[in-house]
Amino acid sequence: MNIALIAHDKKKDLMISFVTAYENILKPHVLFATGTTGKRIMEATSLNVHRFESGPLGGDQQIGAEIAENRMDMVIFLRDPMTSQPHEPDIQALIRLCDVHMIPVATNIATGELLIRGLERGDMEWRKHRRTQTLNK
Ligand code: PGA
Repeated sequence: MNIALIAHDKKKDLMISFVTAYENILKPHVLFATGTTGKRIMEATSLNVHRFESGPLGGDQQIGAEIAENRMDMVIFLRDPMTSQPHEPDIQALIRLCDVHMIPVATNIATGELLIRGLERGDMEWRKHRRTQTLNK
């Protein structure tokens, strides 16, 4: 599975705890992240992460483009709901595209844990079929 990880600044420590706790589950998957989140994850774990631009510089839009191309299977986006973000329109667009393309998206740690546990159980297998369908369209 292709999994995108994004954390706003005040949620980055939480993201590190999250990926550290679930490192073994995440390891076999292909991980993507916005710039700073990806850098922090790679510094803290043995996970390899494909880094896009930093969120405010277009990283959320790059991940959105992957979703539109049916190349992303899951998004874990630890948002900071208490701080206004300069790239708020990009954030909204990313979440909207997840809804448009039915991509599982978690915007807080509680749902993030549910998605990761589902991933471990094999609940995401349907995405493999869905990706092939679009390739054949
Ligand atoms: P960052 O971007 O990982 O580069 O900090 C995340 C965001 O703010 O959307």
